[in-house]
Amino acid sequence: NKIKESLSKTRNSLVNKLEGIFKLSVKIDDDILEELEEALITADIGVKATEDLIQKLKDKVKANKIKDADELKSALKEEMVNLFPKSNIGFSTPAIILIVGVNGVGKTTTIGKLAYKYKSEGKKVIIAAADTFRAAAVEQLVVWGQRAGVEVIRQMEGSDPASVLFDAIRAGKARHVDVIICDTAGRLHTKKNLMEELKKLYRVAEKEYPEAVKISYLVLDATTGQNAISQAKIFKDAVNVNGIILTKLDGTAKGGVALAIAAELGIPVCYMGTGESIEDFAEFDPKEFVDAIIS
Ligand code: GDP
Repeated sequence: NKIKESLSKTRNSLVNKLEGIFKLSVKIDDDILEELEEALITADIGVKATEDLIQKLKDKVKANKIKDADELKSALKEEMVNLFPKSNIGFSTPAIILIVGVNGVGKTTTIGKLAYKYKSEGKKVIIAAADTFRAAAVEQLVVWGQRAGVEVIRQMEGSDPASVLFDAIRAGKARHVDVIICDTAGRLHTKKNLMEELKKLYRVAEKEYPEAVKISYLVLDATTGQNAISQAKIFKDAVNVNGIILTKLDGTAKGGVALAIAAELGIPVCYMGTGESIEDFAEFDPKEFVDAIIS
């Protein structure tokens, strides 16, 4: 199974940390839960998610629902799945999807993958290249557009991002497009400007296409571990983030960060990137994820 394979580094690191605990043949008590707590904290799952999980497990031990290591393992997996807020990736069309995130996290790649996915589902898609600051990014986006078989609306380097979205909306309406996927800038060192720019894109979307559903997905790079959480907090303050797309899960042992995201941000993880090619992309299923990282 491909998901399992791409999460192998995360799984191996968790196996190393948890194996000793899951092999114990004694009655589960607070000392063992403390050991588990330490192991989880070092596994990029983060303090908040770990504390939530341990509390749930303590309650179950108290209620005599966890007696041995096997039951501890199943209860841990069950509570991990429960940590994830319900993802709702269905939406009505027309829709405008803003893709936000810091440069380098895999935004361009993700837009290509998402466009391809929607297109495979029979939707008519266009991409708005509204990160006008990075000429190379626009070129990359055009390449991804070709791969996905989706048109990319672009303007000259340095033009107003809102004006690119305006063009894309006009084209989208004229061609009865279902989904407009809009790239956005990701220069976090000019945080204030960046957030103003995102807000302006929202305003244009609202004003020019009121009947379209507006969705925003934040792209986070799993290899950055806890750093991804701080990025998410910054974006969450500025825009209404509907879902997270977690990339590069294939190359990292830090996949546990998905649980930290769930516990600390309360935003659903909707999709995950599992490689560099257009099909290395999947809907995020909490149960499948947990089964893949703890086997
Ligand atoms: P952007 O700067 O956020 O637009 O990032 P890009 O889309 O250009 O991606 C940056 C790098 O990450 C590229 O080398 C991509 O091939 C790589 N990348 C993106 N998503 C994934 C993924 O899910 N897995 C792996 N292994 N690499 C990825």
